[in-house]
Amino acid sequence: MIKSVKIRLKPTKAQEIFMFKSTGVARFSYNWGLARWEEMYREGLKPSKAKIKKEFNNTIKKQEVYKWLYEVSGQITAQAFDDLNTAYDNFFKGRAKKPKFKSKKTSRKSFYVRYDAIKFKDRKVNIEKIGKVEYTTNYEIPDLPKYNNPRCHFDGKYWYLTLGYEHGENQAELNKDLSIGIDLGLKDLAIINHVDQPIKNINKSAQVRKLKKKLKRLQRQVSRKYEMNKQGTKFVKTKNIIKLEKQIKLIHRKLANIRNNHIHQTTNMIVKLNPYRVVMEDLNINGMMKNRHLSEKIQEQKFHEFMRQMKYKCEFNGIEFVQVDRFYPSSKKCSCCNSIKKDLKLKDRIYRCDKCGLVIDRDKNASINLGNYKLAV
Ligand SMILES: [Zn+2]
Repeated sequence: MIKSVKIRLKPTKAQEIFMFKSTGVARFSYNWGLARWEEMYREGLKPSKAKIKKEFNNTIKKQEVYKWLYEVSGQITAQAFDDLNTAYDNFFKGRAKKPKFKSKKTSRKSFYVRYDAIKFKDRKVNIEKIGKVEYTTNYEIPDLPKYNNPRCHFDGKYWYLTLGYEHGENQAELNKDLSIGIDLGLKDLAIINHVDQPIKNINKSAQVRKLKKKLKRLQRQVSRKYEMNKQGTKFVKTKNIIKLEKQIKLIHRKLANIRNNHIHQTTNMIVKLNPYRVVMEDLNINGMMKNRHLSEKIQEQKFHEFMRQMKYKCEFNGIEFVQVDRFYPSSKKCSCCNSIKKDLKLKDRIYRCDKCGLVIDRDKNASINLGNYKLAV
C-alpha cells in the first residue's frame, strides 16, 4: 500500500524565490509542450513526450534567453512533459477534458521534486537545487531511498511537499459484523447508522458563518472599488483592490481548509470503527445542483470530497466500499420491517411506518438501510 503524506515546508526567503522559479519553469515547460503537441498534430506528425523533450532540449535550452531554465532542477521540465503526456492519455481515454494551458494566475503553483535526492535529516528535508528546507509534520516519515511522486506546491500562503511511500503496517482487525451506512445531507453533514450523534454541518458553525460574512463584506467592497475606479468602460485594478482580493483569497483558503478538515476528521472516525464495509449512496449531485436554491449549500458540503476520502481510506484499510445506486429506496424503506412507504415526502423529517409502527428520524432510517444493503446476486 502507498501511503501519501503532506508536509508543511518552511523555506527561507531565498529558498522561496527558487521555489517560485521552479513553479514558473514547470508551467512554462508544460505550456510550451502543449503548444508544440498541438502544432505537431496539425502538421500530421505524431506527437510524443520523447519528441517534445528532445526538441525542447535541442532548441529552447540552447538559447541564451532561456538560461534561467538551468537555475532549477532539470527534472521539473521532464516531469512537466510526462504530466502533459498523462493529460493527453486521459483525454483520449475519455477520463478527462482536453489539456489546457496553465495560466499564471489561476493554475496550481507546483513542481516536481527529484525523488532520489530527497533526504530527511535533522528536521530538514533536502530538495534538489533548493537545499535543506525546514518542515513540520505530525507524521513519522521513514528514511527511504526513494519516495513516490514528490511534489512541492504553494496554496497561496504556505508551501507543502507531498509524497507517497510504500507502507506495510499491521492493519487493524476489521469487525466482521459491522457494516457502516452513511447518509449525507444538508441539515447535518452525515447520519451514520452506528453513531448516535449526527455529524454536524460545519457551515452552520459560528466560525464559518463569521468568515462568510467577512467574505461577503470584502466582495462588496471590491466591486464598489472597481465601480469607483472605472475608466470609461474599463475596470482598473488599484493597489487597494489588489490588497482586498488577496484577503478574499485567504478567506477562501481558510474556508476550504475548515471544510476539508471536518471531512477528514469524520472519515477518520469512521475508519477507526474498523467496519468490514462502508455503504454510501451514489448521490446525483449534478442533478441536485440544478436547484439554484440548494446549489450553494450542496457545494459547501463537499459531498464529492467526502466520497473521495471515504473511498480511498477504505481502500487503504482493506474495508469494502459500496456505492449504492440512487434508485435504491434507502429513504422509503422501513429499516425495521422492510416495507416501502411510497408517499414519503421530502419534507417528512420523521419516518412513520404504517406496517410495524416504527417512528424514527428519516435520515437515521436511511443510514440503517444503507448499512443493511444486500448486493443483488
Ligand atoms: Zn416497518
